[in-house]
Amino acid sequence: MQAAPDAPAIDDGVVLIEGGKIRAVGRRADVAVPSGAVTLDCAGATVSAGFWNSHVHFTQPVWNDAGTAPAERLAAGLRAMLTSRGFVRVVDTGSYPPNTVALRRRIESGEIPGPAILTAGGGLAPVGGSPFYIRPARLPELASRDDAERLVTLMVGLGADAVKLFTGSFAERGRIVVMPVSIVRAAVDEAHRRGRIVLAHPSNSAGARAALEGGVDVLAHTFPSEFDGPWDRALPARMRERGMGMIPTLKLWPYELRKMGMTAEQQQALLANGQAQLRAFAEAGGQVLFGTDVGYMTDYDPSDEYAYMQQAGLTYAQILAALTTAPATRFGMAARAGRVAPGLDGDVTVVDGEPERDIRTLAQVRYTLRGGRLLYDKTR
Ligand SMILES: [Zn+2]
Repeated sequence: MQAAPDAPAIDDGVVLIEGGKIRAVGRRADVAVPSGAVTLDCAGATVSAGFWNSHVHFTQPVWNDAGTAPAERLAAGLRAMLTSRGFVRVVDTGSYPPNTVALRRRIESGEIPGPAILTAGGGLAPVGGSPFYIRPARLPELASRDDAERLVTLMVGLGADAVKLFTGSFAERGRIVVMPVSIVRAAVDEAHRRGRIVLAHPSNSAGARAALEGGVDVLAHTFPSEFDGPWDRALPARMRERGMGMIPTLKLWPYELRKMGMTAEQQQALLANGQAQLRAFAEAGGQVLFGTDVGYMTDYDPSDEYAYMQQAGLTYAQILAALTTAPATRFGMAARAGRVAPGLDGDVTVVDGEPERDIRTLAQVRYTLRGGRLLYDKTR
């Protein structure tokens, strides 16, 4: 058992969950298991706190009409994308808010087994900067500070827990529109007044700089670009100074270029840029949050993301922190989630094997529990 990224591993460990909360954690000899307790066999496996995926989307057809859709369809979608991958808590960084709020309501009522969802509602774009890849849909575009305040207020009213800005947005393939810093700042100030975190989609160094200078809390991606030359190497340390977090989404880069028909060498070059950005940010002590952009990316398997993060220089403990303690802290839930410890929610992810030896085993999930409820069981 790896109860926390910075804790020594516990061999032959036991977690006792009662009433949805963790009651006891320790070696088998030290934890008294009440008679009649339901037990899960974790032999040969590694037990950790429930994983977070801090960059997902509920925009695929499987989520349509989430308020009235058959529960089985939604449950199967949640299992395929999230709970079979060990994700107990997710951050939706852009979707249709009424639909995602309806999905969340049915999960929280207990009707549908699923992860806890934080949502950023619909993303907000610069003028002329709705992303080309969501056409024919368009995002709200912010032309003024007033627009920024009004649309942040609207999203919060629709149930958004966070705000997502396209500080740099691909208006066309090869043409990035950057949001003016004054508008970023107005949106961030309004979100912070309302107690909401702001995530930004940067697209390139200029978009990342606009996020940094406008006070954004978390970059939702690294920011390699195949279009506009070398990236700004001053950014990772400056992001760290400002206390920003970053979600690497490394697997997304070769995935996108493959879709565009670009070569393996081009895919590798873009990935290497993203990895260099992650390495510099992590070496500066920046807060890394795990996220894969699934829901936009239709390949749900997180194995490559773990491998790419490790290749970038992150240790198992750093990757586990990105899955657990870092997002719990960033999203204000550290008193409930992120570690396997008495008093915290009974959120546990069990993977086959030893991720310390093979990082890809983080994707070989045996059980996913949320509040003591089994959301996924590979053995059945
Ligand atoms: Zn995304």
